[in-house]
Amino acid sequence: MKLSELKRVPVGYLNTPLEPMENLTKLVGKGKLYVKRDDMTGLAFGGNKARKLDYLVAAALDGGYNALMTFGGVQTNHGRMTVAAAVKYGLKPILVLTGAKPDYCSGNLILDRMMGADVHFIDTSAFDGLPDAKEKSAAYLAAETEKIVAAYEKQGIHPYNVPVGGSSVVGAAGYINAVPEIMRQMEEQGINAKYLVCGYGSMGTFGGLVAGAKYFKAPFEVIGIPVSPEFRGPEQVSAFIDQLSKEYELGVHVAPEEIRIETGPAEEPYYGVGYNIPDAVTQDYMALLAKTEGIFTDACYSGKIFHGFLDLVRSGKIPDGENAIFLHSGGTPAIWSKEHLDLAQSLFYDGEGLFVHKA
Ligand SMILES: *Cc1c(COP(=O)(O)O)cnc(C)c1O
Repeated sequence: MKLSELKRVPVGYLNTPLEPMENLTKLVGKGKLYVKRDDMTGLAFGGNKARKLDYLVAAALDGGYNALMTFGGVQTNHGRMTVAAAVKYGLKPILVLTGAKPDYCSGNLILDRMMGADVHFIDTSAFDGLPDAKEKSAAYLAAETEKIVAAYEKQGIHPYNVPVGGSSVVGAAGYINAVPEIMRQMEEQGINAKYLVCGYGSMGTFGGLVAGAKYFKAPFEVIGIPVSPEFRGPEQVSAFIDQLSKEYELGVHVAPEEIRIETGPAEEPYYGVGYNIPDAVTQDYMALLAKTEGIFTDACYSGKIFHGFLDLVRSGKIPDGENAIFLHSGGTPAIWSKEHLDLAQSLFYDGEGLFVHKA
């Protein structure tokens, strides 16, 4: 199927703004720095998953499904946006989350519940410490999911299965098509940027953008910043792009050597300590962007990606004087997740500029 023939329904707002970060540019003193505001796709506070859901929801409606089911961590942004898309299109929202049920409901999770999502917690902590914990957890998740789906089917509820992060071939179409949007905006605004820096999690964003950049002959290189120490290597990104190319008849191949993944210095990797583990370095970078531009990022994804973006510019890995775009993928409701708020207390609720005037 040709890319242009793929069905799409709008779940959020496009185009998102592409704008200069004047203060940050001045502070860094190298090149011109821009931000592509995919945190402003609108749907349920926005984020990158809206572009994928445009195509995923269309596929679900087209297939006659009456529910959307997706997967992720307890604080998944993708889950929150999938629930919102389901609500908007009259589909039943179902989340299958890997992790224990938290005592205190915060961040994305409370929004999921406000939107009326069924939430299933798959708690695999019983496997922790076992040599094959990963395999056992995956097998348990698969077996429980099968049971959950069967129970819904019995009630006449047919869930369309949206994979983790919405990163199927269908979902990634959203980011292939983000490339011409960015190219048009660059042309309109006279922006000459050689680099586009984005996050790399479940791959749909990075893989889609790299495929799109090659297909549409973009003037920029796409650089992916992993958000977790466990990420799939360039061979797998290349293989995913081959899949996209085959499905949409793009006729492109991107060799593993051409795929640029940057993790940063070993002593201070951009992904911080681990997936969704609070760390002060990431929160420092979040605060830096907030102080210079009034733009918020989150501690699980976009704060780390911004860390990578800025360090690539400062370190000269993005050559001096070259202009670059930071793709802001959203995630901001996670700022108010309990684990990150707990760390933020000590970092921001003390020190210079804080006064108490007590009568
Ligand atoms: C999901 C997500 C990412 C990663 O995108 P993938 O397409 O999964 O690689 C980056 N930032 C935020 C805020 C996200 O929610």
